[in-house]
Amino acid sequence: MSFERQKILVLGGGYAGLQTISNLQKKLSFQDADITLINRDEYHYESTWLHETAAGTIDWERGTYPINKVVDTQKVKFVPAAVTAIHKDEQRVETNQGDFEYDILVVALGFESESFGIDGMDEHAHTIVDPETAIAARQEIEKNFANYRSSGDEKDLSILVGGGGFTGVEFLGELTVSIPELCERYAIDKNKVKITCVEAMPNMLPMFPENLVDYAVNYLEDRGVEFKVGTPIISANEDGFVVKADDEEQQIEANNVIWTAGVRGNSLMEASFDGVKRGRIVVTPDLTIEGYDNIYAIGDVAAVMNGEGEDARPYPTTAQIAMQLGQHTAKNIALTLNKERRVPFEYDDKGTVCSLGPNDGIGLVFGREIKGRKAAFMKRVIDSRAILQVGGPMLAYSKGKLL
Ligand code: NAD
Repeated sequence: MSFERQKILVLGGGYAGLQTISNLQKKLSFQDADITLINRDEYHYESTWLHETAAGTIDWERGTYPINKVVDTQKVKFVPAAVTAIHKDEQRVETNQGDFEYDILVVALGFESESFGIDGMDEHAHTIVDPETAIAARQEIEKNFANYRSSGDEKDLSILVGGGGFTGVEFLGELTVSIPELCERYAIDKNKVKITCVEAMPNMLPMFPENLVDYAVNYLEDRGVEFKVGTPIISANEDGFVVKADDEEQQIEANNVIWTAGVRGNSLMEASFDGVKRGRIVVTPDLTIEGYDNIYAIGDVAAVMNGEGEDARPYPTTAQIAMQLGQHTAKNIALTLNKERRVPFEYDDKGTVCSLGPNDGIGLVFGREIKGRKAAFMKRVIDSRAILQVGGPMLAYSKGKLL
């Protein structure tokens, strides 16, 4: 492989892909390489804000920006196209806009919803995985609330959230703000609304200490959310979820059904690589794929291990780690072009915040517990920082959440 004018192809314009591009732009000159970014849409969306669109607290445009706004067109060619196949041995990627050859490939194709084969889930539940699904969930709730005035059907005012993980809890937090507004708009008594969260495990959000989880649960319960924990969903149908409670099957009825209980990496991964589990491939410490040192897998399609040996576990897939993986990949590509050795990735876990609507939350940040308005502010800092890092101060000013 010659090291002049290498063809670098980045697939995906999410957190990991855009961080790779923005750091490559800084590190490489246009003589060093032909850099191409391929993304399905012309815009990037903040996937960690989608629950807000789904609940109706923000419009979807608020969390998106055109990719061309952050790409230096002198150095990077952006192609809006859908990737359909990766031929790793031919160093070629197929898209609906034609084929692309590469010397170095970065696969950052993101996540999909995972229903774990639960009967009826794909047909009967909404998901929150991209702007289209988030908008559809929001429209469904609005349609049913509007319909209630003529139907009088309690199911129209019943919202079922499957899974009390991060997405489920953050979505519930936004609902506590948007649902009272919706009730006002359609002159509905808000006491008639039922919001139920069904969680399989007896303990929710196990990454947080018990007192913070209690705070989050109490906060949401005080605003009308009912939790059913230790209650796995076993199927979904047109009336809602069937759950297992006290060893008995029970139907929980609702016309607004949202599944937030599972994500997986992009299914193109299984079709393209060996040893892929739930759309994720284990990467080497320098973030390349075993046997292919010119292919990086990063973000939600990568299982990045927290060590070596039998006890090693993959880090949870988050926006925070995706951004660091993108930065590191750009660094390793620059080292490769410089004929230097790539360096192993080290995760710098700054902590995590789970919002409870726009004004509250819980978090563990730099090892310190935070809750309430402080956590909500920290969440806005995190959300704005992601935009600042990729798009600079002007974009952070117009799209960030600090102003
Ligand atoms: P998750 O895996 O974190 O949570 C899913 C929840 O659904 C779990 O609590 C699980 O027990 C439950 N569940 C699974 N099967 C079920 C069933 N059959 N019935 C009932 N409950 C069931 O998924 P997520 O919330 O989509 O998050 C995905 C990833 O993104 C995670 O790694 C998370 O850390 C990250 N994330 C982070 C943030 C943040 O940092 N604020 C926000 C959203 C997502």
